[in-house]
Amino acid sequence: MSTGEFRIQGLPISDLAAEFGTPLYVYDADVLRDTYQGLRDRMHPAVDIFLSLKANPNISVIGLLGSLGAGAEVSSLAELETARRAGVAPQNTIFLGPGKTRAELEACVSAGLHAIVCESLDELRALDDLAARTNQGPTPVMLRINPDFHTKGSGLAMGGKPRQFGIDVAHVRRSRELLKSLRHVDVMGLHAYMGTRFLHHEDLVHNTREILATARELSAETGIELRTVDFGGGFGIPYFDNESPLDRDALTAGINETVTEFHRDHPDCRLINELGRYLTAPCGTYVTRALQVKESMGEQFVVADGGTNHHMAAVGVGSFVKRNFPIRSLTRYTEQPDRTYTITGPLCTPNDVIGKRVALPEVAVGDLIGVERSGAYGPSASPGLFLSHGFPAEVMVHDGTAHLVRRRDTLDDLLGKQRLVTF
Ligand SMILES: *Cc1c(COP(=O)(O)O)cnc(C)c1O
Repeated sequence: MSTGEFRIQGLPISDLAAEFGTPLYVYDADVLRDTYQGLRDRMHPAVDIFLSLKANPNISVIGLLGSLGAGAEVSSLAELETARRAGVAPQNTIFLGPGKTRAELEACVSAGLHAIVCESLDELRALDDLAARTNQGPTPVMLRINPDFHTKGSGLAMGGKPRQFGIDVAHVRRSRELLKSLRHVDVMGLHAYMGTRFLHHEDLVHNTREILATARELSAETGIELRTVDFGGGFGIPYFDNESPLDRDALTAGINETVTEFHRDHPDCRLINELGRYLTAPCGTYVTRALQVKESMGEQFVVADGGTNHHMAAVGVGSFVKRNFPIRSLTRYTEQPDRTYTITGPLCTPNDVIGKRVALPEVAVGDLIGVERSGAYGPSASPGLFLSHGFPAEVMVHDGTAHLVRRRDTLDDLLGKQRLVTF
């Protein structure tokens, strides 16, 4: 029944595990490129695709996507610097986030980004003051709006309800005088992001249509120019067995229809579609090694060398019923698993469960277990310091060669920042 071990671009997973150790994140650069290119080829040419670094901040991930033409949406100084070092041009970088520090705003102004996305009118005023003290000319700004239309189908809604993000549309409507009084910011567009994990193309097309309609209305009412409109993203990836993938053709056809209409009236407006999960999740596999296989009160457990400390998302946060991510035996890769195991990590907490009663072939100690579609919200969204295991290595396989793109944390990484005070 076993069909041999899992390979990435011909490389046996056991070789990667031997070379780089486990636990390990492996990214398949072919999948990353094809995911981006597949969307790029279908999306209206007026729409630029940006990677939200939050989903995967690895410099080689944005490096590869940037080389294919993707821009970067960043939310911290380190993400800003990651995009810069990866070779993404400032004109293809935007900075957003509900709580930006003065240091972040200053770095954005001096970097000459395409735009800073302001999330409150107070922030806009502060930025105007700050920009006044530079002699770089007006700083380009998009206002992030919190639209008041209803959105459905998101695993986690970020707009259309009371939120810390963006500026309520009603407040933007009343800001005409303020906008006129600002001299050192150039409010050149609008941004909206409705939420994450949308899996029905109708919902995403609806969001896009409503956001573009709201942008037109606000522009007419307040005089805000529409030189850029970022209509968000939140395209989902199916993780659980009750979910199906987005219909990419129907999704892009629907978005392109509304974009075409908008583009006709605003031919010089740059449109941005910012995506994290959709671009990066499919390329990644979290690879762990089985340390123990044991039975407890009738249930079979595999205790692996990594778990929720590196892959918190796999516990199914954001879904009502906890379900399993796609989990496979990488050592005995098969379509016909005939056993069930609960897969745990090494942490001393009962919550460190990566998958409950997962269908797998027989697992032996030393086997490699993989969590698939794990290239988004992995290590960076996990409590990697819990029990001081530290963060795993990350490897990217490109043209049949495996490259270390983040080394595993060492004892020095983990202990070097602590100070022993003797009393
Ligand atoms: C998190 C976030 C994204 C990325 O979301 P995905 O669902 O991973 O695509 C994009 N834009 C904003 C404003 C975000 O907060």
